[in-house]
Amino acid sequence: MTNRPIYDITPFTMLDYPNHLATIFWFAGCKMRCLYCYNRDIVFGEGKMSIDEALSFLDSRKGLLEGVVLSGGDASLYDGLADFCQEIKERGFKIKLDTNGINFKKVYELVEGRLVDYIALDYKAPKEKHYAITKDRHFHLFSKTLDYLIEQKFPFEVRTTIHSDLIRVEEINRIIKDLVKREYKGIYYLQPFVYVENTIGRVTKEKSSFDNSRLLEGVDVVWR
Ligand code: SF4
Repeated sequence: MTNRPIYDITPFTMLDYPNHLATIFWFAGCKMRCLYCYNRDIVFGEGKMSIDEALSFLDSRKGLLEGVVLSGGDASLYDGLADFCQEIKERGFKIKLDTNGINFKKVYELVEGRLVDYIALDYKAPKEKHYAITKDRHFHLFSKTLDYLIEQKFPFEVRTTIHSDLIRVEEINRIIKDLVKREYKGIYYLQPFVYVENTIGRVTKEKSSFDNSRLLEGVDVVWR
């Protein structure tokens, strides 16, 4: 694994860590290939920043920021993530992990070690549609992560990106039914796809619209 795992930093955000001023570390690499992903450079690119450089940046932000968002790409692919989280925590920052959930072992390690405070978990699509959207065959590992976080009563959110030509309201309703069945009690965030050129799947602007009024009840659905 490269010793420069971080592709880029967003020095300051008020939007990405609920109720906290935070910085975002974007980790290079991801095992998924979501059709609507606009982070091609991060997914396919090499990291540019070392862990030591990231920690020096944090040292310069003590007292100014409260949290660190580990995003990507998929930060959970980085082998040394637990040690990195330990270093961040020793500096007094809270940690949020953005993840697609297929690296169950890493999520388990971070949660058991109390090395992460909050998780945003992508529920990409219902099981039958997972591969079509992500080109990944590990829905069972995502499912294990979801069950584990629910069982642990860990503070986390579930979220799905909506491109209305790729995922239909019936499919989101299957996700809602699944979340109800698993007794998920948190908020289910739906985030609209924002068109950019050059997504991984070269998706075009949406031609159809998403019929919000047909969403099932059962979980708290919030649009971002
Ligand atoms: S949108 Fe998909 S491909 Fe892009 S970084 Fe997230 S999980 Fe990886």
